[in-house]
Amino acid sequence: MPAVSKQPGGAPPRPKKHTVRIVKPRLGSRVALISLGVAAGAAILFPIGWRVWRGEEDVSPSQRTWSEWQTRWRCEDGHYFYAPGQTGARMCIHIDCDQPAFPVARYSCPQHGPFEVNVLFDLDENDHPKITRLRLIGDSWVSASEGVHCPRCGRRLEYTGDPLLSTARSRNPSGG
Ligand SMILES: [Zn+2]
Ligand SMILES: [Zn+2]
Repeated sequence: MPAVSKQPGGAPPRPKKHTVRIVKPRLGSRVALISLGVAAGAAILFPIGWRVWRGEEDVSPSQRTWSEWQTRWRCEDGHYFYAPGQTGARMCIHIDCDQPAFPVARYSCPQHGPFEVNVLFDLDENDHPKITRLRLIGDSWVSASEGVHCPRCGRRLEYTGDPLLSTARSRNPSGG
């Protein structure tokens, strides 16, 4: 009688279904992600808190730095955003937009109302921002002394400001 040995060839042994996998690396990367997120959040919130704190403190005008001046920017494609002031252009913050942006201020004709005007800032000898060049949107740049003129009546437009810039100014009453 030949010995028929049972061979496990017919059906391969099934692996246990309920295996507990150790997911340590995944957990680790998750923790890393969370702490990264916290760090990023802090990095974003910290300057805001700092500015608020600085704003409540009595900062003398001479200590005020250029970066504390928020202004409104408009890129060549027409996106608007707020960002600290600086000399020259800055890149548009909108995704997929690679256009340069310039600060926008409001200039008004007494007869025809306000116009949006791109301005370029420079720093004076006291490190205070001053407007050196400007242009009506879609027009060409002129010097601040030349000024921009109403496209309807040709009268010279008067600077009537930007909401955020004037807020910064009212908190910063420098005698001149
Ligand atoms: Zn843009
Ligand atoms: Zn006019």
